[in-house]
Amino acid sequence: MGRSRIAVIGAGIIGCLVARELAARLPGTQVTVLDRDGVGSGASRRSAGLHLLRGGTDRTRRMSAYSHNYYAHLKRAHPGLPIYPVGATVVTGPGEPGDRLIERYLPQAEPESLTPEPPLSAGHRTWRISGSHYCDVYRLTQALALRMRATVEFAEGVAVTDLVPGDHGVTIRCGTGERIEADAVILAPGPWLAAPAWRDLIAPLGLRVKRVVALHIALHIARPPDPADQAILFDADDSFLLPLAHRGHWLFSYACREWDVDPDRPATGLTAADIDAARDCLRRNAPTPASASASALAAASASASALADACRGGQVFCDAYSPSREPVIEALDPAGRIVFAGAANGSGYRLAPAIAAQAVTQLNEHLSEGATGDPQYV
Ligand SMILES: Cc1cc2nc3c(=O)[nH]c(=O)nc-3n(C[C@H](O)[C@H](O)[C@H](O)COP(=O)(O)OP(=O)(O)OC[C@H]3O[C@@H](n4cnc5c(N)ncnc54)[C@H](O)[C@@H]3O)c2cc1C
Repeated sequence: MGRSRIAVIGAGIIGCLVARELAARLPGTQVTVLDRDGVGSGASRRSAGLHLLRGGTDRTRRMSAYSHNYYAHLKRAHPGLPIYPVGATVVTGPGEPGDRLIERYLPQAEPESLTPEPPLSAGHRTWRISGSHYCDVYRLTQALALRMRATVEFAEGVAVTDLVPGDHGVTIRCGTGERIEADAVILAPGPWLAAPAWRDLIAPLGLRVKRVVALHIALHIARPPDPADQAILFDADDSFLLPLAHRGHWLFSYACREWDVDPDRPATGLTAADIDAARDCLRRNAPTPASASASALAAASASASALADACRGGQVFCDAYSPSREPVIEALDPAGRIVFAGAANGSGYRLAPAIAAQAVTQLNEHLSEGATGDPQYV
């Protein structure tokens, strides 16, 4: 592609991995990452960063397996990155068929990984899964940017105010008054779907923004986690308890149901409704002292109601969701010069490598010159 120029809009985990993929697969291309704030300061900064080998459809299972290998390779190449392996146990309620669970948790990737443990109490079962980790996503984006700055330009504090696709390129206007002519754009705006520059371009995708909440469990109730503790996933409620050993506390994430929120609304923090919903979910799911005999479930050394009462603070933001609940990688203009990458439905960290790889492949298919090769673990 010679000295063509590709702009990446958004420097969250997806934008950073897109930039890394572009730098590796299109050497010689000028790559510019634009963010109206700083690297990793959107949804990525608030992420719980849990990675699991899991997918509800064939496509997301493939994306999860790809991303799993990518992160494993990244951690091997750079052991200092803030990626922490964690064991994980899935708790299923009465009536949850094991085969459906096995399908979701990718047995094809790690056949030995799903091992049923003895029932806890009436109908509940636990399943140990391997291959999970959690990550400080903000620090990871910073580390990725640091390693790329010599070859990729990062323009922080630069908001994109207009995006005009043409037959031969894309005109980008910035809040700074600068006008950039790019050959192509990968748009990774996280939950900022309604920005005037691209609102109309992405409207046909039918994406929506949902509030995402994760509570911190105060340590006067639960003991501090240590690296041997496991994540506990409550499958029916799509919620989990995560031992954040590197921060010294437990985190409880539950599926918040508040839709169409605005990422630019002044931060109001957690609400009483957030705390009540999290506590209800935890009381429904967490082990009672009598049932907490399974090693993983003894984790926080506290009863469900004590854990629930200890939910006092947390991290709250929002994320983009798609109608199909699969990530969206799609050209927004007839010439295919603007590719949207995101809407990962609350799983944007764990699927980011696959989203980035597919976005670059998609761009390449639309442009006449070819990228140098297939998706790779760069
Ligand atoms: C509380 C919480 C917990 C989560 N837990 C998990 C989890 O355990 N596992 C998991 O996989 N996922 C989790 N997620 C989801 C995950 O964090 C997101 O899907 C992911 O961070 C999205 O990354 P992104 O790069 O698409 O968006 P972002 O990180 O939001 O990046 C988008 C960037 O675009 C920039 N931008 C916006 N508008 C403009 C503009 N006009 N001009 C220039 N730049 C602009 C923003 O400043 C921002 O930096 C969680 C999310 C939250 C909020």
